[in-house]
Amino acid sequence: MRIVIIGAGPAGVSVAETVRKHDPQAELVMLSAEPYPPYSPPAMIDHFVNGSASHLWRDPDWPVQIGLAYRSGVEVTAIEPDAQRIRLRDGSPLAYDRLVIATGSRLYAPLEGADLPGIYNFKSLSAAEALIQRVKRGEAHTAVIVGAGFIGVEIALLLRALGVSVIQIEMLDQVMANMLDADTAIHALAQMQARGIDVRLNTRASAFVGHERATGVRLASGEILDADILIAATGVKPNLGPLEGSGIAHRWGITVDDHLRTNAPDILAAGDVVAAPDRLTGETYVHAIFPNAMEQGRVAGLNLVGIDTVYAGAERMNSLKHLGLPIMAVGLKEGDEVLQTRRNGHLRTIYLQDNRLVGFQLVGEIRAAGVLHALMIQGQDVRPLKSRLLDPNFGQGMMTWSAIAPGA
Ligand SMILES: Cc1cc2nc3c(=O)[nH]c(=O)nc-3n(C[C@H](O)[C@H](O)[C@H](O)COP(=O)(O)OP(=O)(O)OC[C@H]3O[C@@H](n4cnc5c(N)ncnc54)[C@H](O)[C@@H]3O)c2cc1C
Repeated sequence: MRIVIIGAGPAGVSVAETVRKHDPQAELVMLSAEPYPPYSPPAMIDHFVNGSASHLWRDPDWPVQIGLAYRSGVEVTAIEPDAQRIRLRDGSPLAYDRLVIATGSRLYAPLEGADLPGIYNFKSLSAAEALIQRVKRGEAHTAVIVGAGFIGVEIALLLRALGVSVIQIEMLDQVMANMLDADTAIHALAQMQARGIDVRLNTRASAFVGHERATGVRLASGEILDADILIAATGVKPNLGPLEGSGIAHRWGITVDDHLRTNAPDILAAGDVVAAPDRLTGETYVHAIFPNAMEQGRVAGLNLVGIDTVYAGAERMNSLKHLGLPIMAVGLKEGDEVLQTRRNGHLRTIYLQDNRLVGFQLVGEIRAAGVLHALMIQGQDVRPLKSRLLDPNFGQGMMTWSAIAPGA
């Protein structure tokens, strides 16, 4: 059986490793449009700051180790489910018995002038290389970043670490609004400002401007901010290019069932390209984070080898490593009851709904995150534990519900 995986990000790697673990015989082929070995985007920052190779979170000979034919720099342009084959950029066909679409996501910049040359992003290693090489060649000393979501914030921190003067524009009244609640975001903002990042909240960019190349950003106020480098960090969008004309159902992301199967026979999908239900709310969305990509890859891989596995749903979960202050945000950031404590510059906030833990945000001190997460996933009534939930030592060394709340 030939399994073809389109994409060499975390989702694709997870599919391949899961299949190989359970099926030593399957023929595995992985294609990536980029000219690199499989890499992990979250580790790109460390790579550019200190030369770490941790973004290549597998050995260079990983494809050989797991017995996979890896083809980099190969773009898939079409999927032809009726013929069970895909089509590559050079027009050549490649047949499959099973196909996994793990094409991830790319920059989404719904802004006038966003297609001008000279606008950078950090959504892929190829895009990031182009940006950082310019900085390292000494050609860029000032930057304007549009967007202060978590990717935008990571870029701002990286550029500051490389000595670039950074203005960051955010149309909302806080940074990382998808991920952080307002109180936690204040701590993140303070860290960014302490690094010298000029963050401008409540400031809307209306266009990138320039003639042959982008030279500035025009704000809704009419003011134009010029800079050596202009960066769009305005969001991400699933890579659906090869789906055109395939009949594979999608809206914002690919539509899948609870086994991550698409509507086309023998085609599954995993990672940032998929719209999947949220584990807590059931709401279907694309939640583009590493743990969801890895878990979806695992579930798709199991189903490919005939181990019937239901996907439990996507999670909201993120941690910020480069701020100089650990921050972790998990689950929802609202509920019918909020528990909060502030101590020594640390902040812990827990969200409950109907006496069940539905989310938490930890600033400065992230102990007990594992136990809080376990409680959230189990969906247990936490009334007997409420007085202890905010304690960083809560449940230390105990990971099971019965150990935390015996008899509950
Ligand atoms: C700078 C940055 C920092 C991040 N930090 C975090 C973090 O701290 N925590 C976290 O949880 N998440 C983080 N993320 C998000 C995380 O990286 C993604 O959720 C994850 O990479 C998704 O994995 P994926 O395999 O679905 O897609 P991707 O990693 O996007 O990989 C997609 C793959 O598909 C290939 N591809 C696309 N189209 C084609 C085509 N037509 N033909 C062939 N190949 C194709 C690409 O070349 C690539 O190999 C970060 C992302 C970025 C960009």
